[in-house]
Amino acid sequence: SGEEAAAKAAAHLADQDPPTIFDKIVAKQIPATIIYEDDQALAFRDISPQAPVHFLVIPKNRSGLTRLSKATEEHKALLGHLLFVAQKVAMAENLGEGFRVTINDGPNGCQSVYHLHLHVMGGRQLTWPPG
Ligand code: 5GP
Repeated sequence: SGEEAAAKAAAHLADQDPPTIFDKIVAKQIPATIIYEDDQALAFRDISPQAPVHFLVIPKNRSGLTRLSKATEEHKALLGHLLFVAQKVAMAENLGEGFRVTINDGPNGCQSVYHLHLHVMGGRQLTWPPG
């Protein structure tokens, strides 16, 4: 039946992209310190900050972007928007002296949450190279 096909398709999708903790933050099912929100993006403070200011910018709808390396042509506008939000919120957080934007991709990139996110860190002198 159509219903069965829909359920099967939904299960298949869920298999491919299981929900992460960030879906719960988007749905406001678990608390987070949200510092920016619009129709496409959410920014909230990292629970384990690596700098005096450390927040994450995520797409509200992951739309296949479990990680940056899954990006396709159709994600280009969203990716640009997330980067724009990152700098806008960085300025609101008084990071005018500079900051860092990081995207960890996959096992070698130390990615732990498979819902695309930009880390924005600042508020101290950062060092280079990262570990
Ligand atoms: P990744 O290692 O995937 O690049 O980064 C995931 C980030 O999400 C980590 O910096 C981690 O501290 C943060 N994080 C994980 N779970 C939560 C949570 O429940 N709330 C918040 N605010 N941050 C989280």
